[in-house]
Amino acid sequence: MLDLNLRVHSDLHLPSDIVTHKHFIDGQYLESASGEVTERVAPSHGVFVSRAAKGTEAEVNLAVAAARRAFDNGRWCRIAAKERAIVLTKVADLIEKNVERFALIESLESGKPISQARGEVGGAAELWRFAASLARTSTGETHNNLGDDILAMTVKEPIGVVSIITPWNFPFWILSQKLPFALAAGCTCVIKPSEFTPSTTAMLADLLVQAGMPKGVCNIVLGHGDPVGALMTSHSDVDMISFTGSTAVGKKVAEVASNTLKKVTSELGGKNPQVIMPDADLDAAADAVVFGVYFNVGQCCNSSSRIIVHQDIANAFIEKVVALSKKVVFGNPLHVDTQVGAIVTPEHQQKIDTYIKDAINQGATVHLGGAGMHVEGLSKQFYQPTVISNVRPDMAISREEVFGPVLTVLTFQTLDEAIQITNDTEYGLSAGIWSENIHNCLEFSRRANAGTIWTNTWMDGFPEVTFGGMKQSGQGREIGQYGFDEFLEIKSMVMRIGKTRAPWVGDT
Ligand code: NDP
Repeated sequence: MLDLNLRVHSDLHLPSDIVTHKHFIDGQYLESASGEVTERVAPSHGVFVSRAAKGTEAEVNLAVAAARRAFDNGRWCRIAAKERAIVLTKVADLIEKNVERFALIESLESGKPISQARGEVGGAAELWRFAASLARTSTGETHNNLGDDILAMTVKEPIGVVSIITPWNFPFWILSQKLPFALAAGCTCVIKPSEFTPSTTAMLADLLVQAGMPKGVCNIVLGHGDPVGALMTSHSDVDMISFTGSTAVGKKVAEVASNTLKKVTSELGGKNPQVIMPDADLDAAADAVVFGVYFNVGQCCNSSSRIIVHQDIANAFIEKVVALSKKVVFGNPLHVDTQVGAIVTPEHQQKIDTYIKDAINQGATVHLGGAGMHVEGLSKQFYQPTVISNVRPDMAISREEVFGPVLTVLTFQTLDEAIQITNDTEYGLSAGIWSENIHNCLEFSRRANAGTIWTNTWMDGFPEVTFGGMKQSGQGREIGQYGFDEFLEIKSMVMRIGKTRAPWVGDT
């Protein structure tokens, strides 16, 4: 067994009962018409922790109809933005009051450490507050320079009914990157969480009711991508889809949506590099690399799963990263010190392992890890921190999203070469550079093809700073002003002042 920093025991008790969830449609909690349910086993502990109604076409139709009615009758979009902001701010306050309850089930369903789950749920309140502020400051443009008798303006209107589809890796956080912004804009929503992590999305319904959200504005349908997610993307009464998930499913969503020309925004995969220049603060860079690759066991769209390190310092840098990797606290997600928890499903663990075995067969060198990990008394869904070098840019492990605690090391000799390797991918979500030379940093930031570039840091994020991908990492933006604007249509209004318009049809 590797010499790793493992936590076996837990500081929190497993709940004595599993939590159960119904759909939330038009202000009512409903079972599925079919009576079917989905049960979730905690990846870390191997015990059932939740049971959720399993949606069918009937529930999707009810939810879309409720959202459509709530939008068309104006009970949300035509009230003053101030009133919407008050409700969103109340939701933020309620989220903060419920952090412990939400974080425990989020940790159990996803396998993430309890400290991280607390941070994500508590931090999400800030997204709701920021969205509330955007509701009140939204404005359009006026054109007062078109001639003495013309005044024109552009006004922003909510786009309508939005389908929100989310993945399992950051269930409550990703929901909060979308829902409050859509609501702030005046949209109504139908939401589907991942079948693996339905609880915190379902539990939000109670908070929405307590905050005074009018019925029908937010509807939650629990269940699988097929049929629930697929119907939410094809339904003719839906105006927009906000999707986060894999690039493969993102493409299907865009294809289906094209039949009705719905707007689609998508946050998809990434193969995000950090470039390490020889003049960098190597201790700080190594720490950010370790954080970037092991955070959420690497099951993170922003995982820095590739590092591109200068040839001259590569061996010394790998040694630093390996030494730090052994200090990261892996193990029981219910221990407060644990930094890295369990893998989401046995199938996903197998997929991670296959990437590594294939890379080894193609000549890669494993410096650390490369196998599952035994944590006494817990499930088998734990994976060792893994560092791999001697890989070529064309190998699957260098190009595809492994979505595990696996770092791939590539090397370069010139900044041009580092930028070329950075951009040699189908993805373009995020990228980073470590250097004390401002010219290197700016050159890289301008030429790297990614939606976010971090300089001498990794994964710093703020509600104000928009987020999204280039290339096959997605379309559109989330959070920040740009993320809010995605949920708005723009309408031009042109008005003539006085009866000055020359007739088109003459008297003769
Ligand atoms: P999936 O793409 O498998 O699923 C995402 C969501 O889509 C789930 O709710 C899923 O339902 C649903 N879904 C599945 N099939 C369809 C369909 N045909 N139509 C509509 N919805 C469907 O992703 P994962 O849940 O496995 O999440 C991991 C992936 O998400 C990774 O590739 C990761 O990179 C990406 N991701 C990207 C982020 C970003 O911001 N760029 C952030 C987080 C994750 P169900 O699974 O319940 O069947």
